[in-house]
Amino acid sequence: MDFKTLPHPSPTPAAQRDAALADPGFGTLFSDHMVTIDYVEGKGWHNAVVGPRQNISLDPAASVLHYAQEIFEGMKAYKHADGSAALFRPEENARRFNASADRMAMPHVPEDLFIEAVRQLVAIDKDWFPSVEGGSLYLRPFMFASEAFLGVRPAKEYKFIVIASPAGNYFKSGVPAVKIWVAQDYVRAAPGGTGAAKTGGNYAASLVPQAEAIAQGCDQVVFLDAVERKWIEELGGMNLFFVMEDGSVITPPLTGTILPGITRNSLIQLLREEGLTVREEPYSIDQWRDDAKSGKLLETMACGTAAVVTPVGTVAGGDGEFTIGSGGPGQITSKIREKLVGIQRGTVDDTHGWVMKL
Ligand SMILES: *Cc1c(COP(=O)(O)O)cnc(C)c1O
Repeated sequence: MDFKTLPHPSPTPAAQRDAALADPGFGTLFSDHMVTIDYVEGKGWHNAVVGPRQNISLDPAASVLHYAQEIFEGMKAYKHADGSAALFRPEENARRFNASADRMAMPHVPEDLFIEAVRQLVAIDKDWFPSVEGGSLYLRPFMFASEAFLGVRPAKEYKFIVIASPAGNYFKSGVPAVKIWVAQDYVRAAPGGTGAAKTGGNYAASLVPQAEAIAQGCDQVVFLDAVERKWIEELGGMNLFFVMEDGSVITPPLTGTILPGITRNSLIQLLREEGLTVREEPYSIDQWRDDAKSGKLLETMACGTAAVVTPVGTVAGGDGEFTIGSGGPGQITSKIREKLVGIQRGTVDDTHGWVMKL
C-alpha cells in the first residue's frame, strides 16, 4: 500500500524539541507526526497517511466509546551508535496485534503493513530520539472501532493509528527494586476472558487495584489467578520471573490469562543461553513467600518493553510483607537486563536476528 506523506506545516521548532528531548519523561511528550490507516468492511485497509499529529474526529456513537473494541501495541525504536534506528522484534508485535484483533473480533492488519507504518513514522520523526542515556522512541500502534452504531456486534469500520512518544529511562536513577502489592479483591483476567489480548479494557480494570497498591505504599500490583486465587499471574503490564538458588528460573505459563510478553519470550531464551533452566509452570503466592523466606528464591524480576527488566524487592499483601534476596537488584536480573538492553541498543551482538535496522 502506498502511504501519502503530508509533512507537518508547522513542526515543533528545533530548539524547543531538543530541550524537551533532554528530559522526555514517559508518555507525555509526542513527536510531530502520526500514521493513520482506515478500514471499511468489504473494502479493507486504505487511505494510509503519514501526517501531522492531530486530534481525531469521531462520531459520538463510535463503537469504541461504548463497547471498547480497541487493541494496542507497545514497542521502541532505538538509536544505534552508527546513527541508524532499530526496532526490536517488530514482527512479534505485528503477530501479537493480530492475535489481539482475533479475540476482540477486529480485522487483521497485515504484518508488513503494520511494520511499514511504524517504519514510516520513525523515518519522518527521526529527529525525535531522546538525547538522554537510556532513551528511546516509544511507539504506540493501536486500532479501534470507529463505526457509528449502537447495536452490539463487531464494527464494520476501524482506524489503525501509530503515534510516537520519546521516552527517557522509565526509572529516573538506575534500576531501583520495586515493591509490589498482591491484589486481594480483584483479578485481572479469567479463563476464557481477554487476559492474553493487549486491549484497553484490561488496563481499565487494573486501575482500581493499582491505586490500592499505591495507597499501600507499593509501586505495582501483582494479580493472582481468578479461579483459585493462588497462582501468580503478572503485574498490570509486566510479566514475572523467579530465580531459584539451584539455577532454575520459573515464569508463569501462557494459559490464556496472561499477556504473552515479547520481553518475556526473549528473556526465556537469554536465560537458557546463560545455562539456567527455565520452566514455564505455575508458581503460587504461598510458595513465593516460603521460598523468599527460606532463601530458595534468590531474585524476582518483572519485564516488559517500557521498563525492560525491573527487580522486585519487596512483596506486600494480606499475609504481611516479605523481602526477596537483599531487597535490591539481584545478579541474574542485572546481568540479563544488561544483555537485553545491549542487544536492543546495538552494543551486544544480535545473534538471534532480533534487531531490525530501519
Ligand atoms: C504489553 C504487556 C506486557 C509486556 O509485553 P512486552 O511485549 O514484553 O512489552 C505484559 N503484560 C501486559 C498486561 C501487557 O499489556
